[in-house]
Amino acid sequence: MLEPIEGDLTRLLQELVRADTVAIPPDGNENAGQAVLEEFLRAHGVECESYDTGFLAESDHPCRRLDRNYAGRRNLIARLPGAGSGRRLLFNGHMDTVPPGRDPWTDGPWSGAIRGGRLYGRGSFDMKGGLAAQFGVACALRKAGVRLGGDVLCESVVDEEWGGGGGTLAGRLRGDTADACVIPEGTQLVVALATRGGVVVDLVCEAGDPTAYFSTDEVVSPAIPVGRLRGWVDEWVERRRQIPRGEAYASFPDPAPVQVLAVEANTTARELPYSVPLTAAVRMYFQFLPYEEPAEVVEEVRRSLDRFCADDPFFRVYPLKWKPAFDPPLKGHELAPDHPWSRCFIECATESLGRRPEVTAAPYPCDAFLAHREFGIPTLLFGPCGGGAHNADEYVELRSVFDTAASLLTSALVWCG
Ligand SMILES: [Zn+2]
Repeated sequence: MLEPIEGDLTRLLQELVRADTVAIPPDGNENAGQAVLEEFLRAHGVECESYDTGFLAESDHPCRRLDRNYAGRRNLIARLPGAGSGRRLLFNGHMDTVPPGRDPWTDGPWSGAIRGGRLYGRGSFDMKGGLAAQFGVACALRKAGVRLGGDVLCESVVDEEWGGGGGTLAGRLRGDTADACVIPEGTQLVVALATRGGVVVDLVCEAGDPTAYFSTDEVVSPAIPVGRLRGWVDEWVERRRQIPRGEAYASFPDPAPVQVLAVEANTTARELPYSVPLTAAVRMYFQFLPYEEPAEVVEEVRRSLDRFCADDPFFRVYPLKWKPAFDPPLKGHELAPDHPWSRCFIECATESLGRRPEVTAAPYPCDAFLAHREFGIPTLLFGPCGGGAHNADEYVELRSVFDTAASLLTSALVWCG
């Protein structure tokens, strides 16, 4: 069913990668990709609907991001109605990508260049490859004229990156629901039954005096004291390594990582005169296990940071400010290995790949908890192979996009009946 449209799907993926759908909070440029997708679906006789997610502004759901603009940003959904006798299935993928970053790209971030079976470009792996696969399933079903027992819903959403979740939330609040869900994020063709939660927070010290440099005997600088945070960070890294792992992350050497994403105090860029920094910041990334309540862990971290500041002569005077990049934090999720949906999908993927896929947990947070925990739709992740997500020279392996589509299609045929 998929073979006849492999060429079309490659071209779709290429066009999606060439469409700049970067999101930088509070805004996102997803519509450019939704337009490509809409045209492709119409050409393949698949009906779809796109709608404005601006109604999130009126929602009081606790997971809604208050700091983002949704007006005009459109989700797209294709619905293949079933006969009403089977279970419903939702495919969910995000259209937004992170920006290209500062490192140089071999072909540029929007090339869609294909070399050695890999398609390159920002978003190819995260997660336009997955989007091409899931919408390929809709096209294949339509082309074959197959009507399943239950509905297949296929959605492309906005605002997943930067801890967003707005697009997936909008879809659920709107009432689009199912009895199971797959998110084809790039998992290297591994079935991920769980995801971690997470929060990114900037610890910022404002201590400088702009009139002091070259003018006073002693110049206050936050740069060196911020270095003392290292001890506090190390303690948290160690502490989080020791927490009970639960089932899904039992084999992970670092089950709930604490990472430093950035350290900033001035810059060495040429255009900056020699000066003492006025502010210093450390960007931290805490991840949470599926069974944890992130807000509680964050409270604990904040209390320990307050104690650290109180014990330090510099930070007693210039305390570190806690500035989360998004709030509330993302939660993790966990689908039981013996859940009917886990069992069904693993069997279908085994049949389709010709080998049993590894079954594990994802090393990152995503939208899964929204569908799974907030709206009760059993959710797992399964998607293509690739690399370079959030970095230069991101790529997806084309063969694995088709393999993903085949597994998704098999699961739709079996699950929906
Ligand atoms: Zn992603």
